[in-house]
Amino acid sequence: MADIFLTNTLSRKKENFVPIKPGFVGIYSCGPTVYRNVHIGNLRTYIAADLLKRTLLYNGLKVSHVKNITDVGHMRTSGADEHYDPIINEALREGKLPLELAQHYTELYHEDEKKLRVISAEENPKATEHIPEMIGMIKILLDKGFAYEVEGTVYFDVKKFQDYGKLSGNTLDKMDKLLEAVRVSVETDKKDSADFALWKKADEDRAMSWDSPWGKGFPGWHIECSAMSTKYLGNHFDIHTGGEDLVFPHHEDEIAQSEAAFGEKFVNFWAHAGYLLVDDKKMARSVGNFYTLEDIEKKGFNPLAFRYLTLTTHYKSRLNFTWDSLEASQKTLNNLYREISGYGSEIKKTTCAKYEEPFIKAINDDLDLPKALVIVQDLISSDCSVECKLTTLLRFDEVLGLGFKEYVRVTIPSQVRKLVDEREKARNEKNFARSDELRAKIAELGFEVVDETDGPNLKKIIK
Ligand code: AMP
Ligand code: ZN
Repeated sequence: MADIFLTNTLSRKKENFVPIKPGFVGIYSCGPTVYRNVHIGNLRTYIAADLLKRTLLYNGLKVSHVKNITDVGHMRTSGADEHYDPIINEALREGKLPLELAQHYTELYHEDEKKLRVISAEENPKATEHIPEMIGMIKILLDKGFAYEVEGTVYFDVKKFQDYGKLSGNTLDKMDKLLEAVRVSVETDKKDSADFALWKKADEDRAMSWDSPWGKGFPGWHIECSAMSTKYLGNHFDIHTGGEDLVFPHHEDEIAQSEAAFGEKFVNFWAHAGYLLVDDKKMARSVGNFYTLEDIEKKGFNPLAFRYLTLTTHYKSRLNFTWDSLEASQKTLNNLYREISGYGSEIKKTTCAKYEEPFIKAINDDLDLPKALVIVQDLISSDCSVECKLTTLLRFDEVLGLGFKEYVRVTIPSQVRKLVDEREKARNEKNFARSDELRAKIAELGFEVVDETDGPNLKKIIK
């Protein structure tokens, strides 16, 4: 296996990535809080994790990717120190039950990812379906003396965990100042301002609360990720991803609770994606620069133009989104598609090493996709044969995820045409068994029939 280098937030250095179990990589990604459509900032972070997964797969590794769905809202603060749970609030506003609302936005999120060719995670665990696992972990922390209960609320005792601050650099000596700025005034019963809630007492009438050994309540923000990642990937796993905003406190607290509970290292590599900005500003509904994939599609762009745009900036750097930059990405992508559609459909056994070697080097160097895109352009303008270009580009697309296959122009043999006509006749006669039989025959000859509103369309099956 070629060497893979990844920047690790833990060491703040680029390190040689070696999986814990040879040939196999476990990745956990913090997924969306499902009370609204995900925005293009969230999607940038998810595409970064997808590029990581695809790069590992390209290197022949097996990957098990777990990405949670946060359907228990964690408390947020708005305006004059008002605390609210976004899922419950939004459900009330939309006249839905919280779980109904969460399900609705979970489905939309999966659709967005599909449009962006983000490979589905092997597991998408929901917080609401893992309350017993969270309670189990909190019990361990109480037993080991890392947590304490105050009238139905359980806090993690940060001072008991020596290594606190190793990810973010926010060690206990620096915490007082930091917390002054973000002090959560409702939590006045904590021993120390740095302590954080593992379990929160709920009012009797609160929607989304559960019975626990400490009475009716709901989990704190961080515990779900520790409970679900370790359930699916083991107490010690390879890579944890998220956006840069999650380094502190979310990931710092995940490390503290997991390592305190299980007594071993939690995660080897922490990979954080840089923020997406819009016109150099933070995205916010109130500023009117808050965009979703739907907004992009409404303006007539292909969602993959957004994916392409994210590849042009290194995942760790901030990405400045502008409509002009999206327009430029769409143009470059269309040019690529046009090139590919002129290459015929002959696929060779091997790719062009002169271009694949530097491509692998680029992606394995902390996912240097901007460099990989330059190699794509170099290959296109080279004097390689069209078969060689096509074969190599299709291989590269296993990482790029830009849907190159869809643009391969093919000539359809007359034998296949005949079978398609015959199938149409069978379908008109409602003889679906025959139609399925013919579809299978067509597939054997290397074509897939796609039934569209204006009739059947054919796609070459490219393996
Ligand atoms: P949230 O739904 O707010 O919990 O965020 C889900 C994921 O999106 C997390 O990994 C965040 O770090 C990431 N994220 C949120 N806002 C942005 C942004 N503007 N740019 C990039 N990533 C973001
Ligand atoms: Zn998380």
